[in-house]
Amino acid sequence: MEIFIYEELSGEELDLSDLAGYLEEKGARVEVRGGFFSRFSHSLEDVAKALAKMRIFDPANPVVQEEPLYGEIKYEQRVLAGKAKAGGVLYDGFALQSYMHSLLPRREISLEKLHLVITSRLLATYDTDDRRYHARAVILGYPAIISTSGIVEAPAKPQEFYLQRRLLGEDTLAEAQLKQKLRQKFIDYGDTRIGEVLKGYALQALFYHLFGEAFCEEKRCRLYNAHWQEELIEAQFSEPELCPRHEAMLKQWKEKRK
Ligand SMILES: [Zn+2]
Repeated sequence: MEIFIYEELSGEELDLSDLAGYLEEKGARVEVRGGFFSRFSHSLEDVAKALAKMRIFDPANPVVQEEPLYGEIKYEQRVLAGKAKAGGVLYDGFALQSYMHSLLPRREISLEKLHLVITSRLLATYDTDDRRYHARAVILGYPAIISTSGIVEAPAKPQEFYLQRRLLGEDTLAEAQLKQKLRQKFIDYGDTRIGEVLKGYALQALFYHLFGEAFCEEKRCRLYNAHWQEELIEAQFSEPELCPRHEAMLKQWKEKRK
């Protein structure tokens, strides 16, 4: 079993060798490969056009962007070249995943290989129940994609943050102070805890790949599907790392590989 880790505009200063070491401890061979698009596509212009088609303009409407505007494609090219920031744009997560899958050469597609892309792009998936897009920290599947901005934006912050922020208006200094006060309760951009949280989502991707099961009901298991930031922090930073059942599954898998 090999895991290939790619960085796609991570934005954050991430130590991917730390993530790689962690996954190796769990029993996989891991290779950190650098950029996904630069490795698998010959034309960054094609990639820019594909990305522009995945942009979500209205959270209530599934993306159907057949012909993106010239300016949108140019913007994506600048982002890919590192000349502009990807902030503030929302992309359809399943569209990104299926595009990335289409770029993978056949020899790279195997049950023995898991591709894991870490991106700072904000991804969302359309929920047919409430007919809206929702931001996601992880898009499970092939390749699996983890979004660092999704880690910040997808699980909700504590209610008291939203209530108090409403009182602050445009006062950014007061907002920064409020964030500082509540920092034990949620993860923000640039937060050093993001590297640790990545490991939890990478485990979800690995479990999904190996066993077809990614989530757990146990609040302290790293596979817990957190909807709130406080739940995310509890699941990723409390002991035990995994619940007994998931610990046993991983152990059994590791033993079989020896
Ligand atoms: Zn569990």
